[in-house]
Amino acid sequence: MSEVRLGTALREAQRQIEPLDARVLLCHVTGRSAAYLIAHSEVALGAAQHAKYAGLVRRRAAGEPVAYLTGEREFYGRTFNVTPSVLIPRPETELLVELALEHVPRDAPARVLELGTGSGCVALTIVSERSHVEVVACDQSLAALQVAASNARTLGAERVRFIHSDWFASLDGERFAMVISNPPYVADLDPHLLEGALRFEPQSALVAGVDGLDCIRAIVAGAGDHLVPGGWLMLEHGHDQAAAVGLLMEAHGYDEVFSAPDLAGIARVSGGRLTMPAGDR
Ligand code: GLN
Repeated sequence: MSEVRLGTALREAQRQIEPLDARVLLCHVTGRSAAYLIAHSEVALGAAQHAKYAGLVRRRAAGEPVAYLTGEREFYGRTFNVTPSVLIPRPETELLVELALEHVPRDAPARVLELGTGSGCVALTIVSERSHVEVVACDQSLAALQVAASNARTLGAERVRFIHSDWFASLDGERFAMVISNPPYVADLDPHLLEGALRFEPQSALVAGVDGLDCIRAIVAGAGDHLVPGGWLMLEHGHDQAAAVGLLMEAHGYDEVFSAPDLAGIARVSGGRLTMPAGDR
């Protein structure tokens, strides 16, 4: 592929994909800022970079998420590496983090357990925002744990321990002030799985049985053995699952059960407090 000016390459791409995506991908390929691209639209894009750009634009036009093409996504003001082995961090999950930060003990040192950490964005944000908190973050995917560990290195985060575990399986006897998760919660046959970014994301991070609640049921049932008295369970869930998640929590003895709306006004995160954990009841 021959040389072409930056401005021309951008305009060509903007006819095929969203203008903003075209700009983000050109920034990625050139290593330049958006401001640079605007101010230097006459500068030539080398043949190799042009070919690389054209390839990414083609993949984006076929539906691949920008985050997988650039290998990164911003979450709660920090940049996280992502690969197709992990879910792409979403704004809804920032609500989960926000509520966790509100409910984690304020002054005394506290330990939090994150189930299904993926890119690590939840665990790493919590330790970055709260200097007295330690997080144990687990995932059953080794590929995901590698991504999370690389993000921990990039952020210089200490106070996070990543472990390989299928939910609570490797956590015998450990108790925490909070158990938090953005688990898979999409129903097996949900048509959204065939649309947009979800087609490219790991199904193991998305899909959870006929009603999408299999993982949430397992977590609510198991968390009592891993919470200290007064500990909180905080879960992200689907747009129509708040009532079911609240009932599950109440059935397992949780008090102060609440759900909170995301930016679209949809109840998206639910939490509850276990005054008297399993074994003491
Ligand atoms: N929020 C994702 C969606 O777009 C699902 C993420 C998950 O299952 N945890 O439906």
